Amino acid sequence: MAAGFDQTGPRRKRKKRQSRKPKDRALTRSENMSRIRGKDTRPEMMVRHAFWEAGLRYRLHDKRLPGNPDLVFPGRRTVVFVHGCFWHCHEGCSNFRIPKTRTEWWAAKLERNKARDADVLAQLDGMGWDVVVIWECETADPKRLAVLTEEFKLNRNASSRPTRNATR
Ligand SMILES: [Zn+2]
Repeated sequence: MAAGFDQTGPRRKRKKRQSRKPKDRALTRSENMSRIRGKDTRPEMMVRHAFWEAGLRYRLHDKRLPGNPDLVFPGRRTVVFVHGCFWHCHEGCSNFRIPKTRTEWWAAKLERNKARDADVLAQLDGMGWDVVVIWECETADPKRLAVLTEEFKLNRNASSRPTRNATR
């Protein structure tokens, strides 16, 4: 028998299998430092997941490219970096504050990181790659990630370009 009349209105569907949500609170400094340096960090996994779900396929950590980009889309000649807000100085972001102790040392260090990022970007640009930066704070919001992947899909910048064969 099919479900009969339901006098109580639409039933709420409950999904129990939802994976644990990332924490919303601002990160402590030690969390920032421990998390953002290595590969396969949580923000990066969130981005990979979103791109995969959107049907976008990529290579990981191409060591041949400047800056060792997190995601590489050879067909679109586009790379994606997932940047930790602290280490990469996300201006105006609550995760980016120069520590109150050893302030000058930190300021100099972060300034060097910024310079390195700019250098990597210039190199990639010179090689004909487009660069997309996704900030750690954006990765906590699935809606934001969905927007980013959609935008990425629409920018089919590389599809009309001739493929280069003379790489070696
Ligand atoms: Zn941020």
